Amino acid sequence: MAVKSDIEIARAAHKRPIQEIGAKLGIQSDDLVPYGHDKAKVSQQLIDAVQDRPDGKLILVTAINPTPAGEGKTTTTVGLGDGLNAIGKKAMVCIREASLGPCFGMKGGAAGGGYAQVVPMEDMNLHFTGDFHAITSAHNLLAAMIDNHIYWGNALDIDIRRIVWRRVMDMNDRALRQITASLGGVANGYPREAGFDITVASEVMAILCLARNLADLQKRLGDIIVAYRRDKTPVYCRDLKADGAMTVLLKDALQPNLVQTLENNPAFVHGGPFANIAHGCNSVTATTTALKLADYVVTEAGFGADLGAEKFMNIKCRKAGIAPACVVVVATVRAMKMNGGVAKADLGLENVAAVQAGCANLGRHIENLKSFGVPVIVAINHFITDTEEEVAAVKAYVASQGSEAVLCRHWAQGSAGIIDLATRVAEIADKDVANFAPIYPDTMPLFDKMQTIAQKIYRADDVIADDKIRAQLAQWEDQGYGHLPVCMAKTQYSFTTDPDRRGAPTGFTIPLREVRLSAGAGFIVAICGEIMTMPGLPRVPSAETIMLNEDGQIEGLF
Ligand code: ADP
Ligand code: MG
Repeated sequence: MAVKSDIEIARAAHKRPIQEIGAKLGIQSDDLVPYGHDKAKVSQQLIDAVQDRPDGKLILVTAINPTPAGEGKTTTTVGLGDGLNAIGKKAMVCIREASLGPCFGMKGGAAGGGYAQVVPMEDMNLHFTGDFHAITSAHNLLAAMIDNHIYWGNALDIDIRRIVWRRVMDMNDRALRQITASLGGVANGYPREAGFDITVASEVMAILCLARNLADLQKRLGDIIVAYRRDKTPVYCRDLKADGAMTVLLKDALQPNLVQTLENNPAFVHGGPFANIAHGCNSVTATTTALKLADYVVTEAGFGADLGAEKFMNIKCRKAGIAPACVVVVATVRAMKMNGGVAKADLGLENVAAVQAGCANLGRHIENLKSFGVPVIVAINHFITDTEEEVAAVKAYVASQGSEAVLCRHWAQGSAGIIDLATRVAEIADKDVANFAPIYPDTMPLFDKMQTIAQKIYRADDVIADDKIRAQLAQWEDQGYGHLPVCMAKTQYSFTTDPDRRGAPTGFTIPLREVRLSAGAGFIVAICGEIMTMPGLPRVPSAETIMLNEDGQIEGLF
């Protein structure tokens, strides 16, 4: 039997009108702002009106260190949402929106896969409801206002060598990483070096995802540092009076987007910050609103648990005042093998010893997550090449760590394949055993926060930083930024900064290369290793095979 592609399955979905999906959450048609027949934003009135309701249970889906294939976090998030609905629970899913640019490179979709997907997946992976375009516009408005300010006399005394606000677009375009702007003579301003990042790397994206309401959004936009003067004092977005107009551009983008799963259950798809230089999860507005509308909300954090879940807990939960009732760690037999030293080409062959060796990586993530005071369960996302012995090896290992692992076949079967996990997750969440706390307090010095994450989560011996970086951190503490959480930017493939060191390494240090202040988003970014903020396209980009077929349907998009 030929395996259907994600897009073929999505195309065959029996979608219901979006008003019917809203009704499942008790949302009246008046409170939906439809974008076509199968997408809608929820109105600001509804978001305001539900604020006093009690919260449902939050379930976080995270994973072991990923292999290049992706381990199925989104697929499992969507599947678990459907599974909870199938056992009679009022549940919904909250995931991120996709970045358009990488869809034309080689990336997989962001809507889940197999029989656990959110639809319309083509829209979601492309223009969707225009949120990312709005973010791009708001970001670039600020960039234009900076150069315009300098052109008209530079009253704020901006040092044009120290402008830190770059431009963005939602496209993989390495040619724009570093550019020279304002060439062409007096009428075009003062030539200076500039560059582009991809939209999801914009601080505006991180801000939109952490803002609690429009007033908070505008305040955070105003707090963005755009440049420095010669005396190193910061120039803020507010100084350029750009925050009001940026908020106008973002007002609709702040409202969560409602869509549906293949099984017609509700899903919010909203926001998509980078998981390295930003916190990598869907918006606070979507999650907090979902908690008022459903009894169980399943959400995902990007990358492996060392990066994604750590930021979810220490940044998002701390800032939004929310906490998970249960954490699901997605593991695959394939990834265990890769962590156990098997090459990608050999993943299809049974290798129980490699699975067992790779389980140390899973064990460390389980232990780490428990240190946040939350109950942890493992979902084994089943691939057709997995053998019974390999699955049994993972289960036995997890049991030896005092947790449980449940085999899930939602990719192949939809909700029917994930009933066991859904049942256990609901039981655990209902028991209210979580006693969540971030692993460092606001008051801890910034460097110590980074050290805490490196030692307790990555299990590094120490963080190595030169005096210049330490002095920068001290200066920010003096300026009143010492209470901010830190956002670690590191490879997702390893606990270390070396992507090839899989498993559960010890005896290493974390070199801190650079620190950046995202004053609007409200965190300090700690850059440990190469971080790409404008991706390029591969030699043969998938754009070459994406096209419309004779029926006007999109081909080649996953
Ligand atoms: P993540 O969120 O961890 O990056 P996704 O859920 O987006 O991963 O899945 C990545 C890709 O892997 C998708 O194309 C999906 O269809 C595929 N995939 C996920 N689970 C399975 C599975 N059990 N069998 C085969 N392919 C899968
Ligand atoms: Mg994902």
